[in-house]
Amino acid sequence: MNDNFCVFLDAGHGGIDPEGNYTTAGKRYQHDSGEFHSGGWFYEGVFNRRLMSAVMEKLDRLGILYIKVYHDYLDFPLEYRVNQANWYYRNFKRGIFVSAHANASGVNARGFEIYTSPGVTTSDRIANYMWQNVEDLLGNRIRMRTDLSDGDYDKEARFYVLTRTLMPAILIEHLFFDNLQDAELLMDEEIVDRFAEAQVRAIIQYGNSI
Ligand SMILES: [Zn+2]
Repeated sequence: MNDNFCVFLDAGHGGIDPEGNYTTAGKRYQHDSGEFHSGGWFYEGVFNRRLMSAVMEKLDRLGILYIKVYHDYLDFPLEYRVNQANWYYRNFKRGIFVSAHANASGVNARGFEIYTSPGVTTSDRIANYMWQNVEDLLGNRIRMRTDLSDGDYDKEARFYVLTRTLMPAILIEHLFFDNLQDAELLMDEEIVDRFAEAQVRAIIQYGNSI
């Protein structure tokens, strides 16, 4: 991998503050059964951070440089997250932006999705690597949701972190936390590790391709 490469890591929303309160009221769901993060509540921002911690642990072991653009528990504005990535991209190293999320539908949907900005861009290449790795590592455990109408696996959306970033960027929706079975999978440390592993492999594959 090229030395002029850095991964800009974003874990969506906020986490649990030192007083024990979840900082992003909307991005949570209380299940009727199970404990999850606390009393049946699944906090998306807590999952996003757990996953990105596993990714950072692997990147540390490999000596791959990354910059974390999110806070341990505050819900930094999207503009500040993107601003940090863009500044370091311009003044420090080139790289890619990866934003980790879990989804909610309100209608009990399940599965895994990857988003890129609309049109054919280099982001599609990272999304394809990620898709393939998730299929290899988790394809028999989870539902894979795709939009093949434009010839690739990713879905397209004008999310702020995808359209305002200067570098190739993907946003990953790791299953639906308001579905009981998907939420249980997201609490499973082996599943979290496999999602992290898929991300790290995609980062390496992309880094080797440029
Ligand atoms: Zn989210």
